[in-house]
Amino acid sequence: MPTAIEIYKLLPKKNCGECKFPTCLAFAMQLANKKVAIEDCPYIDDAAKTSLQESGAPPIRLIKFGPQDAQLEIGDETELFRHDKKFYHPTVLAVSMNDSMPEEEQERILQQAKKLEFERAGQKLKLDALALRNDTGKAEPLERLARKVTGESKFAIILFGKDPEALRPAALACKDRRPVVGTADKTNLTGMISLAKEGNLPLVVSADNLDELSELSSKAKESGLQDIILDLTREELASQLKDLTIVRRMAVKSSYRPFGYPTLMRAGSGEEGVSRATLGIAKYSSIVVLDVADPAVLYPLMTLRQSIFTDPQVPLQVQEKLYEIGSPKPESPLLLTTNFALTYFTVAGDIEKSGVSSWLLVANTEGLSVMTAFAAGKFTAESVAKLILKFGIKDKCTSGSIIIPGMVSRMSGKLNELTGMKIVVGPRESSGIPKFLKTLS
Ligand code: SF4
Repeated sequence: MPTAIEIYKLLPKKNCGECKFPTCLAFAMQLANKKVAIEDCPYIDDAAKTSLQESGAPPIRLIKFGPQDAQLEIGDETELFRHDKKFYHPTVLAVSMNDSMPEEEQERILQQAKKLEFERAGQKLKLDALALRNDTGKAEPLERLARKVTGESKFAIILFGKDPEALRPAALACKDRRPVVGTADKTNLTGMISLAKEGNLPLVVSADNLDELSELSSKAKESGLQDIILDLTREELASQLKDLTIVRRMAVKSSYRPFGYPTLMRAGSGEEGVSRATLGIAKYSSIVVLDVADPAVLYPLMTLRQSIFTDPQVPLQVQEKLYEIGSPKPESPLLLTTNFALTYFTVAGDIEKSGVSSWLLVANTEGLSVMTAFAAGKFTAESVAKLILKFGIKDKCTSGSIIIPGMVSRMSGKLNELTGMKIVVGPRESSGIPKFLKTLS
């Protein structure tokens, strides 16, 4: 956002007060702090308005698409490195199908794609979109495929083809999902722009090199199109990484507007497809399209995506409380752990695996794992004793003992002294819990 003085220079300087501020400078100061809108001044001219809107826009445009009730958001990133702050919008993962496939094959991929969903650390991870390719060059097969997919699933849609006329009926058929359309290159840019503008759809533009890509995205912008996605698929992995990095760097560090858009990569399939998709998730692809719907490929990619797009300063956490794993009775075993989500779900899963219904007392360590929290003084005998009192553990769990993680065995003496409970030192690793609990019972 420009400073108040920079804004003031563009204002009409009438000091008329119609914006509810006595002077233009006062209005400029409010605008710089985002407390008012440019439109509140009725006298600002269009050129100044556009200039202010552009200088205040985020370095990478935010684009929304997909079903109304589950819209996907891409772009609006501000960092080159995750540890500087965080990455905001997780890479959209899409699987491709094409309109020349036999219907049974289309059905098989659709059903497989719908099953690509699992839970990890309390979050549901799933496939986001289907990319429908117009390989036939005809409108009718693509439209039929688009209707089938929208009728039978809630996926966001990406329509790929060379001929805008062949894409138009399919785009209309799924317009409620605001499909992404592409790919526009130097041979079909005009037609693709008019298709995108007609339906107010995001447009993918593609070029073999960054100079040409910059030219095409500028032309699309000049035509009045706002939502542009840059296709940065490259033959060589090294070129892929280089171009993705240059585009992100120029957008974020130099506010280079032709590159201030989300990016897309067609990863393909096989081992190289996995490498490409991995690179895209780690380094700046807003959308990755794979030609495979195999869970063995997609699940690790979804896990990687979850890790990359988690705020590094705010670890995933679960609530501090006494959890029931299975159907514990008052005399069932009582275990202790911390509220780092990955720790909690691993421990809870291992208790479930044991088949021994148990109580799991989870301490709020601000999302730190057991050893880190212990070292940081956030998981101590004193804090655990307070927790036991707070949740009335001795009334609910009558075994009289508590199983603490093996890594914090050093707190056992003090904890016994403070609570009077028998302290049992459990396994150092969560994976040892099933055997440990079975031995106890
Ligand atoms: Fe200045 Fe516009 Fe406010 Fe009038 S309405 S004081 S011209 S900013």
